[in-house]
This record gives sequence, C-alpha cells and structure tokens, in this order.
Amino acid sequence: MAINAPEGTRDLLPDEALFWNHFKQTAAEVFGRYGYLPIETPVMEQTELFVRGIGEATDVVSKEMFTAVSGENLKRLLDGGTIKAKSRLSLRPEGTAGVVRAVVQHDLVPQGAAPAKLMYAGPMFRAERPQKGRQRQFNQVGVECLGAEAPSIDAEAIIMLMRFFEKVGIPASSMELLVNSMGCEKCRPAYRELVRAYLEEHADELCETCMTRAEINPLRAFDCKKEGCAAVMEGAPKITDHLCDDCRQHYADVLALLDGAGVAYAEDPTLVRGLDYYTRTVFEVQASDGLGSQNAIGGGGRYDKLAEEVGGRPTPGLGFALGFERCVLALEAAGVEFPKAQRCDLFVACVDDSVRGRAFALVQECRDAGFATEMDHQKRSLKSQFKLADKLGAARVAVLGPDELAEGVVTLRDMAAHTEAKVRLEEVVGELGRAIL
Ligand SMILES: [Zn+2]
Ligand SMILES: [Zn+2]
Repeated sequence: MAINAPEGTRDLLPDEALFWNHFKQTAAEVFGRYGYLPIETPVMEQTELFVRGIGEATDVVSKEMFTAVSGENLKRLLDGGTIKAKSRLSLRPEGTAGVVRAVVQHDLVPQGAAPAKLMYAGPMFRAERPQKGRQRQFNQVGVECLGAEAPSIDAEAIIMLMRFFEKVGIPASSMELLVNSMGCEKCRPAYRELVRAYLEEHADELCETCMTRAEINPLRAFDCKKEGCAAVMEGAPKITDHLCDDCRQHYADVLALLDGAGVAYAEDPTLVRGLDYYTRTVFEVQASDGLGSQNAIGGGGRYDKLAEEVGGRPTPGLGFALGFERCVLALEAAGVEFPKAQRCDLFVACVDDSVRGRAFALVQECRDAGFATEMDHQKRSLKSQFKLADKLGAARVAVLGPDELAEGVVTLRDMAAHTEAKVRLEEVVGELGRAIL
C-alpha cells in the first residue's frame, strides 16, 4: 500500500516550493531594509519554554502541541517510567518563544545595546483538526524586535508587514489591518476583572468553553466564534476605555505614526489575539476572500514581559508572524498567479544519438556560463524534444545533428521570434549572452 503524507501536512510541489523561496527572499529583502537579520532556531524546544512563554492555559499549549520523544524515552514512558524535564520536548507551535529564548541565551541585547531585530522563516506544528487554511505543519515568516519599547518600533513593524504583503502580490483592497492595545501589567488586571464580572453576569448566554475561559483567561471569550457569545461580547467592557495613561499614550503614538505613513487601519477593541504574552499593541491582517473563518494572514504584537517569563532580564519586545499557506489562498482568491520561477534559457536538441556526447558538453558549457540549459535524457525523437523544450518554456533551442557537427555549428532557434541562425559551437555562449542582455 502506498504511504501518503501525514494528515494535516502537505507537500510543496516545485511550483509552490519555488514560490515559498520567493516569499522568503521577498521577506528578507523588505525586512532587511528595516534592519532585520535572519536567525534559525531549532524546530523543537523544551516543552517548558512554551508552557512559560505562551501560557499553560492557552489552547496552543494545553491541546495543540506535538510532543517529541526519542524512541528510548518513549519506551521508558510506556514502561511506566519518567523522563527528565529537559528531555520533554515539543515541536514549536509558533516562532516567538524560540527566538526570545535564543536572545536571552546568547545575550543578544546587553544593557544599553541597540535593539535586536531578527527574522525567521520555517515550519510550525500544531495538532489541530485540519481544515482549510489550518494545517498541522504550516510555514510561517516572522520577525521579533527585542530591546525597545518605543511606539515607532510597533509602527514600523506594522508598516513593514503591509509593505511585504503588497510586494508579494496581495492587493491592498483585499486586506484589512486591525489594531488594538491590550494594556500592560498595571492596567490589564483590573480590566480582566471587569470582563470576568461581565461574563458572570451573562453566564446563561455563553457557551461552556467561554465560561471555563472566564476562570482562567476571560479575555479569550472575545475570540469565541459562537454567535451567542459574539453577541454578548459586543457589549463587554472595551480595553481601550480602561488603559492606564502610559498605555493610552503609547497606543495613540502608534496610531499617529501609522496615520503619518498613510497606512489604513481599523481599531478593533475586541482584538485580543490568542496568546497570553501580548501587552500593549496587537494587530492582525485579515484577507477579505478565500479563507472563510481562518482569514488572518498575519498578525502580532508587543510582548514586554516575555523575556522575563523565559528567564531573561526585563526586555521589551514586539513581533509578528504571517502564514505562507494562508497567503497563497488569499493570492488565489484575488486571482493573482504565482510568478513562474522556472526558467530555461536554452534547450539543446539532438538530431540523432551520434551527437549526444557533443550536445552534453555544450549543455555543461552553457550551464557553467550561467545559463539554465537542458537536453533530452530519454532518447526522444527530435519532434518530441521540441515538445519538451516547449514545456520547459525554453527561450532558445539549439539543434545539433551530424551535418551541423561536421560544420562545427548549431542551428539556434529563437522560440519567441520564430527566427533561426547558424552559430559556431564555440560562439553559442557568447550569442546567448548577447541575446539575453
Ligand atoms: Zn497600562
Ligand atoms: Zn463561547
């Protein structure tokens, strides 16, 4: 029986894999202009990092993480034994905790240093029920900025995110940017109590999940998609009415910078994002088509307490992540085609087998000179070699037969212009160079 990819995972076949590369390169290019540098962290971390960083009560940590256990440790567990805390590993469900852990571990933001601006791209893992726009392994690109709490860091990250989406081809008209402030450790606890009291008043109208949430994290009730709950939450107290003076000023400054940059946004006081670590600015970009309820293509926020949670010194931070697969769905819905990344500058066609050796040498010579070059490897007829050249989108085809070889030439055909000319074998590379420049 054939074995398929695991449930909730998918292969990026060459066209999409090429687009993923393009996506990452575009991110590196756009974010690089804002000073962000790449970082690569392991796909698995100690489970404790996510418990402390993301929050034990979150769905992500309590239900959705994949645990990674070595075969030896699995045997130990099945035999009723235990394993060391540092051997309890989980596949990363998101990128922020690992990057913040690396910043703390390597002291990338010593006292008085400029902020560390880091970007990553790679797979994340969540053991969720697979559905459209939601997979168990999915690709994300994200950034983290540690060491600065100025509102200009928040604003430039949001601007940079929108610039990236536009650059990668998602039309501005099919996206909406939502922003909110979640307050800080000074003003949020009181607000959280207000929401908890409000949930208790409306207990009979709320679903069970929301009532459980009321105990652990009442703000999560804003994320409930059930109609009854959503209606109740419309009337709930709004965080923006309960911010302390510092948070109100910080939020106003972020919005003023966005206004100044001409970035369109909507304030959404119910936007709380799913993770515990956010403080102050949070934001989310939603695509208007193609994604149904999983319509967030990117988002993030400030997390000024996270570095301490994972054992570092107090270090303000801000980051965002965006989902590759959801962006692909948004691009498809907007009717944008992937740019065709494969190119073939030259196809060398053989009239018969006697010239294959010389053709092979010509192909290598052209590749070494920097041209994407291909030939037939399956003894096809000349006619079907032309079909193959067509399929590869070859810009030029060089025909080599015994007569050409005797003369020391190839017949070089320009596939777009429908012209052909005899070119000396040793001049093919030069001719390609002239034609392409
Ligand atoms: Zn505050
Ligand atoms: Zn609910």
